[in-house]
Amino acid sequence: MPVFVIEVLGSSVASGIIDNSDLIEETVVDEKVEDKVTSLKMTRHQKRKIDETHVEGHEELDAASLRENEEFTKVNNIATIELGRYEIETWYFSHFPPEYNDCVKLYFCEFCLNFMKRKEQLQRHMRKCDLKHPPGDEKYQCSTLSMFEVDGKKNRVYGQNLCYLEKLFLDHKTLYYDVELFLFYVWCECDDRGCHMVGYFSNEKHSEESYNLACILTLPPYQRKGYGKFLIAFSYELSKKEGKVGTPERPLSDLGLLSYRGYWTRVLLDILKEHRGNISIKELSDMTAIKAEDILATLQSLELIQYRKGQHVI
Ligand SMILES: [Zn+2]
Repeated sequence: MPVFVIEVLGSSVASGIIDNSDLIEETVVDEKVEDKVTSLKMTRHQKRKIDETHVEGHEELDAASLRENEEFTKVNNIATIELGRYEIETWYFSHFPPEYNDCVKLYFCEFCLNFMKRKEQLQRHMRKCDLKHPPGDEKYQCSTLSMFEVDGKKNRVYGQNLCYLEKLFLDHKTLYYDVELFLFYVWCECDDRGCHMVGYFSNEKHSEESYNLACILTLPPYQRKGYGKFLIAFSYELSKKEGKVGTPERPLSDLGLLSYRGYWTRVLLDILKEHRGNISIKELSDMTAIKAEDILATLQSLELIQYRKGQHVI
């Protein structure tokens, strides 16, 4: 049984967190922010409005241009990255600064996430980089695993590097530059060489739509270890601590929706199994910090709920 050093997670959730689940990763945001200067002057809500307008503008493109555009977004310039002891094949296109256009491989410092074109540059960097873990506070520790909270405002470059890295593995998430609006929860496996990032999620500090998770990723070498499920559980524990309900930012990828459906189903069925007597969706929501709409959709997909006489009945 793991020892929970910092009391962030409730034991009922924590005890089931790190298991062999093959649930995975990756949810998502759909932020399309291309103009760095403008982005700093707008709220994310305003940006979403503009993005929607941009998307509508696509209707004017003919089908061929759209296909071309789609193809472009899938072309992968950076084919592999080196991160810590892993060489990892990338999955998707990520907009790196223009000076990296001719690179097919990038070398990342696994601690500060600075990236370089050549191995020798990385080796030089590693001799002087004094970080041995993400640049934030350790919020939770369990055995050799640690969660660090990195404030995008205090660690802007780290946040941006993380976004570059993440886009290599997420399809419809586009890079955002307003990292100061986010907290990044970076999950690490630790040993005597330092804390090695295995995955993370981002969390908008002040979400108007009660989003408790913007983006989530488990790096490919660490997938299928239950880390994705852990990250989702952690995001809900943060919501509980704040006394709020939360929901992931939409749209969700197919894989993201599957992971969330799995999490919601497990948490709700665990409660319903033990519960005697009536229970309302509001009560379920208060207990789990899962938004009522998500509870309703999950119970409906399990065919556990009916609509009778103007009321939902489980
Ligand atoms: Zn470094």
